[in-house]
Amino acid sequence: MPGTPDHPLHGGCLCGAVRFRIDAPAFHTHHCHCSICRKCQGALFPTFAFVNRPDFTVTQGADHLATYDSSPSLHRHFCPTCGSHIYADSGADSDHVGSSAGTLDGGAHPGPEGEFCHIFWESRATWYEPDDTLPRFNEYAG
Ligand SMILES: [Zn+2]
Ligand SMILES: [Zn+2]
Repeated sequence: MPGTPDHPLHGGCLCGAVRFRIDAPAFHTHHCHCSICRKCQGALFPTFAFVNRPDFTVTQGADHLATYDSSPSLHRHFCPTCGSHIYADSGADSDHVGSSAGTLDGGAHPGPEGEFCHIFWESRATWYEPDDTLPRFNEYAG
């Protein structure tokens, strides 16, 4: 697909302590506009690229990652040195992870454009309006 880079993709946190590899294109990617993600990531909306867990490997600094449970079923894994949010999952036994697309090296595209959407659209900070035609949902999708 045009615009989709060759895998594996590599990424990591700002300070370099944590590095990861993604071996396959994301099967779903969403821009999350919920207030929790806004606080957690310090951005108007983070972008999560979902990959099957076997395709996501923390190659360096796995022991360094800290975890914040923003709910009993959502665990956010981040670098406690520089604060980069690396990925989220619903538990160690979940079959997929939501990797923070912004932490991919060089702004790499995580997967097929057609699988992108906005979620929790009505919770967004309304002073910036994404100008795209992606589907917009007011609940979780993916
Ligand atoms: Zn770091
Ligand atoms: Zn969110």
